[in-house]
Amino acid sequence: MSLNTQTISSLREQLSAGDISPADILDSLAENISKSDVGAYLGHDLDCAKHEATSVDLTKPLGGIPIGIKDNINVNGQPCSCASSFLENAYRAPYDATVIRKLREAGAIPFGRMNMDEFAMGSTTENSALGKTINPHDVCRAPGGSSGGSAAAVASNTAIATLGSDTGGSIRQPASHCGVVGLKPSYGRISRYGLVAFASSLDQIGPLTRSVEDAALVLNAIAGHDSADSTSLKQDVPDFTEGLSDGIQGMKLGLPKEYFGDGIHPAVREKIDHTVKGLNSAGAEIVEISLPHTEYAVATYYILATAEASSNLSRFDGIRYGNRVENPDDVLDLYRRSRAQGFGPEVKRRIILGTYVLSSGYYDAYYNRAQKVRTLIRQDFLNAYEKVDAIISPVSPNAAPLLGADKDNPLQQYLADIYTISANIAGISGISVPCGAITSETGSNLPVGLQILGPSMGEQSLLRVARAAEVIQQS
Ligand code: GLN
Repeated sequence: MSLNTQTISSLREQLSAGDISPADILDSLAENISKSDVGAYLGHDLDCAKHEATSVDLTKPLGGIPIGIKDNINVNGQPCSCASSFLENAYRAPYDATVIRKLREAGAIPFGRMNMDEFAMGSTTENSALGKTINPHDVCRAPGGSSGGSAAAVASNTAIATLGSDTGGSIRQPASHCGVVGLKPSYGRISRYGLVAFASSLDQIGPLTRSVEDAALVLNAIAGHDSADSTSLKQDVPDFTEGLSDGIQGMKLGLPKEYFGDGIHPAVREKIDHTVKGLNSAGAEIVEISLPHTEYAVATYYILATAEASSNLSRFDGIRYGNRVENPDDVLDLYRRSRAQGFGPEVKRRIILGTYVLSSGYYDAYYNRAQKVRTLIRQDFLNAYEKVDAIISPVSPNAAPLLGADKDNPLQQYLADIYTISANIAGISGISVPCGAITSETGSNLPVGLQILGPSMGEQSLLRVARAAEVIQQS
């Protein structure tokens, strides 16, 4: 079996036994990348990775495993472009993000920069200014986004596992559209030091993998408090692989009635229903619950996320960061023209919207009100977790969209985030697990993901439910 198609756990066994070397895995990936037309990578440096591989400790939990990194996470000495022409050839990371340091400490080798929507704003990876990524299951379709490169690489066997970031679904949704596992840990579980900030109260880093066990292995390596990120929580990091296959007997799983109304594609619904039946047969009790403020989630998210983005992205001005225009008249002209030239249309739209909702006279009407609704949405989840251990839903109302489908209609695209954004608003944990595929009009098989939402810091039981869903899929 070729090495590039395998899970971390199976490669680890062979590495430990001395049957293969990390360089063998890297070679197998590089060969597949050179043949692939998926476009998952913005770049990779095989020589550098092989050099690193000579000194990794193969007794460590991720010893010798290459991990692809979304291009908004700093990897010392490498470009970190956020898929923006503003940063292209203008910025090289001067340090390792905490997750990269931790991956290295666990023996992993960061390998490759994965394509994404510019500054992680989008749902299809089409907002990348630096490359096109297609869905490995259908060349006419998008891989999802914004961590589209991270998901497509795992799905196309050009990566073993990758890191992505999730502000409103950007790990779970591309994982769903590409048929891989994508975990958004609880807010505070993982340090964001070295992640280029989009919306700081929502952003989380997490793994995209071939199996639930692999997601747990990567989470083991990257979780934990970090004094460089004051939002990372001082919580013990258990071994997330422990008890993974203990089953879900006696667990209570909630189906939010607001998530199963109009708008969900019937074929997607069928896949979710089938898996829910399986979870029930595996011993879980299924109960209907209500998350009454769901209808306000999209509006709340797009106010808060754009407000935070407008502030976070002010550092890209052509002076502190980013390509600078030539011969400016004065400093204002330099800022204006550098930003006009550097940012793509979606990023500009978000900065304008975010600046508007924070501006005097509108702050109370929009930003402040959205903060209040955020509290209500968070409370919905706290109430729900008094009754259930985890919540089950679709990840997306539809399977992967056709490339260009929402080109002129960003609002339509925003609405499709309905099932994923609440987890970020509430700071809870969430995962997408493949639960089958539906057949498109052209005969391709489009993966569908099941979303499982757990309470804040509830990753252990979340992963157990995810593993049970994976078993149903494999049986
Ligand atoms: N699709 C959402 C957005 O465009 C989510 C993005 C993300 O999670 N980074 O904002």
